[in-house]
Amino acid sequence: MTDAPTAGVDIGGTKIRAALVTPDGEVLASATAPTPSGGRAMLDVAAELVARASATAGRSAAGIGVGAAGVVDPESGEVLAASDSFVDWVGTNLRSGLAARTGLPVTVANDVDSFLVGEATWGAVRGVRSAAGIALGTGVGGALWLDGALYRGAGAAGEIGHMPGFGDARCTCGQRGHLETLASGRSVERRYAEAVGPDGGGPDGVGAAEIEARARAGDEAALRVLTDAGRAVGSAVLVLAALLDVGHVVVGGGLAHAWDLLEPAIRARLANEPPVSGHTVEVRRAVLGGDATVVGAAALAR
Ligand SMILES: [Zn+2]
Repeated sequence: MTDAPTAGVDIGGTKIRAALVTPDGEVLASATAPTPSGGRAMLDVAAELVARASATAGRSAAGIGVGAAGVVDPESGEVLAASDSFVDWVGTNLRSGLAARTGLPVTVANDVDSFLVGEATWGAVRGVRSAAGIALGTGVGGALWLDGALYRGAGAAGEIGHMPGFGDARCTCGQRGHLETLASGRSVERRYAEAVGPDGGGPDGVGAAEIEARARAGDEAALRVLTDAGRAVGSAVLVLAALLDVGHVVVGGGLAHAWDLLEPAIRARLANEPPVSGHTVEVRRAVLGGDATVVGAAALAR
């Protein structure tokens, strides 16, 4: 498997993406399709996208790495838990299901773990010894890269989005005051809608991208919810630094598009309360964009 490409597959709530990736992290070809409903249909689409990317690149994959949304068991390849938006997904065996469809060996990981492996192998935290990854998407995901390897704990280490201590709003998990209630795209939209009232956003409310645009144009409520999100991320970074003494944190996901608005609040939080270790913690924006998860998953398959 020295110079043969491997396939990375990113299975998310809205789309599935497969890419053929060289040992150097170069994406040779990729293919994307909307996520269908049901585990069996999702596996069919994933297998077809791998075949399509391979055909485009004119190369075969030596193996497949999957970065999947939800809690997955890397040993068995099974999806153990997922949000309500995934129908018939829990209980799906990604490894045996994709292996049966493609005839290739399959490695399975969580999508945020794969994102961090991508950024640690070829991206913003390439070459660092230890780093945490925070993905600010619809929810907030996290992952840990410790002493040069992914750290999974009992399987779900790094669930940063569900750390308590961030107010008392209800979280998507049913509990209260988790980081995700301040720093996810969905929570930014909810908090902005609460701030401006029913007349401020139309029947469907205002999306995160529009809130970013309004903040840049001087909308105070928009600026405030994004500043709150950045400050909350800064607090989470301080917890990670205190607990693990990671020197680097990489922040990605859709809300990281608002990096110019989030970063000052993150930095202010870190400056206010520097880690007691006296070590600095460097927070960087992810650089691989939509490729991080597929190239990370492909690296895990190698
Ligand atoms: Zn939660």
